[in-house]
Amino acid sequence: QVPLKPGRSLMDWIRLTKSGKDLTGLKGRLIEVTEDELSKHNKKEDCWICIRGFVYNVTPYMEYHPGGEDELMKAAGTDGTDLFDQVHRWVNYESMLKECLVGRMAVKPIAAPKVAEFLHFLSFINVPTCNVPIFKSDIIFWNVILVVFSKLLTLHLIFKSNNYDWFQTDSLVTIVIYTKQKDMNAELVIVDCQDKRLRGEIIMDDHSYLVAVDLDNAVSEDVTVNIAEKVGKVEIILSKKDNIHWKMLGQPWEGHNTFIKRTDRGLFYRKCKLVSKTEVTHDTRLFCLMLPKGTHLRVPTGQHVYLKQIIAGTEVVKPYTPVLPFLSLDFQEPPCHDGVHIYLMIKIYSCGLFTQALDHLQIGDYIFVSNPEGNFKKSQVQTSEDLLLLAGGTGFTPMVKLLNFALTEVSCLRTVKLIFFNKTEDDILWRNQLEQLALKDERFEVQFVLSQPTKDWVGKQGKISSSLLSEFVKRSRRDSKVLICICGPAPFTEQGLQYLKDLGYSQEEIHAFTA
Ligand code: FAD
Ligand code: NAP
Repeated sequence: QVPLKPGRSLMDWIRLTKSGKDLTGLKGRLIEVTEDELSKHNKKEDCWICIRGFVYNVTPYMEYHPGGEDELMKAAGTDGTDLFDQVHRWVNYESMLKECLVGRMAVKPIAAPKVAEFLHFLSFINVPTCNVPIFKSDIIFWNVILVVFSKLLTLHLIFKSNNYDWFQTDSLVTIVIYTKQKDMNAELVIVDCQDKRLRGEIIMDDHSYLVAVDLDNAVSEDVTVNIAEKVGKVEIILSKKDNIHWKMLGQPWEGHNTFIKRTDRGLFYRKCKLVSKTEVTHDTRLFCLMLPKGTHLRVPTGQHVYLKQIIAGTEVVKPYTPVLPFLSLDFQEPPCHDGVHIYLMIKIYSCGLFTQALDHLQIGDYIFVSNPEGNFKKSQVQTSEDLLLLAGGTGFTPMVKLLNFALTEVSCLRTVKLIFFNKTEDDILWRNQLEQLALKDERFEVQFVLSQPTKDWVGKQGKISSSLLSEFVKRSRRDSKVLICICGPAPFTEQGLQYLKDLGYSQEEIHAFTA
């Protein structure tokens, strides 16, 4: 993120897009853009970028881009889809840039699949790959092989496409998905069934399998998900509204019965109801959202969701990390962790576009919540003996579930230490609960560090620094296995990572929570 000039906030951009000004220079015309034409528009004062086949004139947006002009210029005159997906695929550019749309890319002849993608595909569908040597020089030969193979595979897939089955009784419809994945669990299955629409996504590492249909007949809102963890069988059970015989499961939507990279799927949102909002500190609130009936969604430890609101007619999306309703002291699953509610601890910034809109939501209002994302893996903690958590401000949020998980489920952990950086005492989130937890569990220790304390503060003060970390971040034994997690303002995290590296911790021993 770079500091933006005054008058260049997201709200200012939304206002500009609503002003009726011609932002493409084409007076509302949409054109077909060739690659050659696109490449000519590669300067700041004339910059076009292609995202997923649509070309935008981003010159008017330059000064409003939170990542800065230079970041945007990296994709100038080219297809910026990959770059965009790497940095913020969750940003709803269609809505944000709709007034900058120049047109579509001209259609290109279809290219043969890339070798790497092709081989990955083969391994997924269990087709034995023969040891054909690759002659780099003989590209034509290899391309022919690929095209023939892909034709055969298409045929093979048509026959093998039923990665799911379905059957029915008088009252139920059961969809069965055989993932062949061991350790399948409830966090890897996301189901939404509302208004005769069923969407079931099964996460398998960085890929996902999707069943998505407009159901043949109406079902009630009660959806049951059964998982046979060891064999990887997932059952989605729907209750028929009327006891009639279904001729088919339903009409497929785009993406139905596909197994693709998760990053290639659009983010899916469902409408959740705000059921409570409670004060945590002077500027931070705990929002409790209720998932719709018919949704099965569990946000894994260390992952975040995206919230979406329409602000001044534009879709605005921001990431937030679900927490628990409170820190459990008796180390059992908290009673409210019921799979129905999502708790978010959110700081309201006085000039924040999204958080101000959030703060104005009334109990009973709705907000869109996405599927979870994030690259943290619980297995990183499961093998650790010392867990060290460095949090700055609301960077505490991923630590909440992590703490609970570590203290309840990881038996090899000897020490869990949280070093919590805040400006003032009033900013410390859940201070009381953390102190209680430290009293209750001798493995857990918390240290508060304030950057702007009053003179009465007797605790540690300062900012994240090498000396502070060398004092607090220590292994309980010389050779103990350690995991250090860090989250907070971006510069805090970046500096922390550098200090940890300087102190000799390896990359495998550190996890930074970022977008
Ligand atoms: P903006 O309109 O973007 O900014 C307005 C002003 O607010 C800024 O000028 C600045 O003064 C202040 N401000 C805005 N964003 C920040 C920031 N990130 N750091 C410091 N000052 C800022 N926030 C939570 O409260 N709880 C969470 O659980 C949470 N989880 C997150 C998870 C991820 C993966 C990431 C990347 C961020 C998370 N955030 C969380 C931050 C959140 O996404 C927003 O950035 C934040 O709520 C501000 O949004 P806004 O639109 O209100 O502010
Ligand atoms: P804050 O209160 O402004 O800051 C918390 C502490 O960090 C303060 O002590 C502050 O000190 C210090 N700090 C801030 N900038 C620093 C810097 N450049 N170098 C060293 N220390 C610095 O924080 P906040 O407003 O709650 O913001 C929390 C941040 O965490 C947000 O940026 C949010 O996006 C991020 N977050 C990320 C995730 C994720 O998963 N990636 C999850 C939740 C939150 P001073 O201000 O006094 O310098």
